[in-house]
Formats: sequence, structure tokens, C-alpha cells
Amino acid sequence: MIQEGRDTRGIGMTSARTRERLVQRLAQHGIDSVPVLERVRAVPRHLFVDEALASRAYEDSALPIGHGQTISQPFIVALMTQAITADRPGTEPLPKVLEVGTGCGYQTAVLAPLCSQLYTIERVGALMRLAKRRVAELGIANVRFRHGDGMEGWPGQAPFDGILVAAAPAQVPENLLAQLAVGGRLVIPVGPAGRQTLLRVTRTDSGFEREALCDVSFVPLVQGKG
Ligand code: SAH
Repeated sequence: MIQEGRDTRGIGMTSARTRERLVQRLAQHGIDSVPVLERVRAVPRHLFVDEALASRAYEDSALPIGHGQTISQPFIVALMTQAITADRPGTEPLPKVLEVGTGCGYQTAVLAPLCSQLYTIERVGALMRLAKRRVAELGIANVRFRHGDGMEGWPGQAPFDGILVAAAPAQVPENLLAQLAVGGRLVIPVGPAGRQTLLRVTRTDSGFEREALCDVSFVPLVQGKG
């Protein structure tokens, strides 16, 4: 069950109307995928942040989630989800997607219904357990969680039709490229703090195509399990 008590306490700051304003803002800033905007409208972001920050949950900004990590800015969550899911041949949901850096699970909850099966890896065990509970509370049942190092990908489930990485390595990890299906897309921030670019890498029959989407600011992708 969604925590109704929390849901109603924010004196309107966490209401559907506030969420609708966020959706309008994302649409104005170039998010044009209707399924992605519907997911932002549907997912109660305030349930993924600390109660003290709930009234700020529908601002378009990153917020702390503990363990030195942040919940991504809604615009970036929407942009990454769109970059993975939109404008593809066929209309069926993406069969298999890998997410690296589960964090609080908000991106997981936005993305999961847009794919058949989502695999998500988080290196901080406490964050993973909390994210797992929140995603289950929303009735989302097509996600498998793993506490581990996402730089290694999830070899037993590869290849993936999409890979979304929510923390920035210095370079695109070879393991993740190797786990991409032909036609699959990897969306990943790359570069040092303050100078990161969000990339989309698409695997083709003959190799990989890279596109730069925008400048971003993510926490670093850290090697090894936390
Ligand atoms: N989309 C998430 C973003 C969380 S921030 C959200 O909206 O909450 C990025 C997350 O990546 C952090 O939780 C961090 O612990 C995790 N992370 C960093 N390096 C990692 C790695 N090698 N493997 C898995 N997770 C990692």
C-alpha cells in the first residue's frame, strides 16, 4: 500500500496538482514522450525522499537521500527514460532493461512499467533495501534488485535492450557496452565532477553510435560493493 498518512500530510505540497505543475514544466523543457510524462504524473516522488524534504519533492531539483547520494532531478530522470524508451521501432514495451544506481528507487518506479523486466543494481545495501520496499509499495512487480557493483553489469541476464546509469564513470565501462543487445541503448553520464556529459550509445550491427544529449551533474560511479 502507498503510505496514505504521509501522502496527505504535505498541506497540498505533495498533491496531484503540484505533480501536474512539474509535468507541465518538463513538457515545456522538451520532454515530449507521453508515456514518460504519464509516469512522472503517476509516481509520488515525495514518498522517495525524507519526510522533511517532502514539500520540495516536486521542485525540479536533486535532493539528498542519505549515504552522500542524491535523488536525480526530475527533468534528468524524464530525459534519461525518454532517451531509452522513446522513438523505437515497434510499440511493445522494452523487453529487458538494466538500471545501475538504484538510489532511492524513484527512477526505477518511473521506468519499470515502460519495460517488461527491469534489473536494478545499487552498491549501497541500505539504499537498495529501502528502494525495494518503496517500489513494492507502489504495486510494481517487474523489478529485480541486486546489491552489487553495477560497473560489472548483470552478466547472467544480458543482453539488455536498454541500460540506464545514474552515476558518472570517467569513461563508458566496457562491461556495459558488451551487455547491450543490437539496437539496444546505453544512457550514461560520463566525465569528472563538474564536466559531465550525458551520452546515449546505441549498439548497431557493426559497432556503437554515440550521441551527446546534454551537460549533467551526477555523483560518481564508484567501483565495488558498498
Ligand atoms: N536514480 C537514482 C539516482 C541515485 S544517485 C535516484 O533517483 O534516486 C546514484 C546512485 O548510484 C547512488 O545511490 C550510488 O550509491 C549508486 N552507485 C554508485 N556507484 C555504483 C556502482 N558501481 N554500482 C551500483 N550503484 C552505484
